[in-house]
Amino acid sequence: SKFVFVTGGVMSGLGKGITAASLGRLLSNAGFDVTAVKIDPYLNVDAGTMNPFQHGEVYVLRDGGEVDLDLGNYERFLDEDMTSDHNVTTGKVYQHVIERERAGDYLGKTVQIIPHITDDIKRRVREAAEGSDVCLVEVGGTVGDIEGMPFLEALRQFSHEEDDEDILFAHVTLVPYSQNGEQKTKPTQHSVKELRSIGLQPDILVGRCEDRLDPHTKEKIALFCDVPTDAVFSNPDVEDVYHVPLTVEEEGLDEYVMDQFDLAADALPESER
Ligand code: ADP
Repeated sequence: SKFVFVTGGVMSGLGKGITAASLGRLLSNAGFDVTAVKIDPYLNVDAGTMNPFQHGEVYVLRDGGEVDLDLGNYERFLDEDMTSDHNVTTGKVYQHVIERERAGDYLGKTVQIIPHITDDIKRRVREAAEGSDVCLVEVGGTVGDIEGMPFLEALRQFSHEEDDEDILFAHVTLVPYSQNGEQKTKPTQHSVKELRSIGLQPDILVGRCEDRLDPHTKEKIALFCDVPTDAVFSNPDVEDVYHVPLTVEEEGLDEYVMDQFDLAADALPESER
């Protein structure tokens, strides 16, 4: 599998999930088998016990798994059924590692976040990706959150264990307007700095903004975040989230990803797409 790791900067609820699902839709249109993993860095084992007023409705999967609403987006956008293995939470990971510790599986070792928790995270991501051409892995929350750290560390290790050309880090951030109508890149710069401080350099930046990013804004983000200008994409506000795949396609995000992964868009004849 190839992996796209999707992180979010500046604030949550930006549209990371919708961006990832839209990219997935386009890659699946091009003929690839796409799957997704949603990482939720909360300590709840699953979303079943969470207050819907606070968290939004719980999404129930065919296998009975009670998960984050994002999995519903993935199912609808990708037209694939997900299983609870596609939702990794801190609660699930720790529960499993602690059960193994109690069973003596670690043979007297000190059980630690690195490597035991991070190993379990990597195992779950690999297992969920099995059989797919591309696996989208979305890390919930915002870069810099204490809860997300073990997951980002696991993805950092993961990226070194796989071939460079099989991994892309995409970072979705907010590009707000200032009072005088300028698109501001500073929040993006700061969130990329935060990513870098934990050893991650994004390959792709997606700017969520009211409108499309100006060419000048893209150039500035490219310069400060150390990516090529054509690796900076707009994801403007739209009336209906089902339009996001179209805007993302116009921006060329899917083509860029296929190009980086050396995947040919004509993998399947038109009739089978
Ligand atoms: P995150 O995964 O970053 O928490 P989601 O993908 O769940 O964010 O999206 C958060 C909210 O923003 C959802 O209600 C979604 O419908 C909305 N949204 C996402 N992308 C866009 C967009 N391009 N335009 C308008 N609304 C959007």
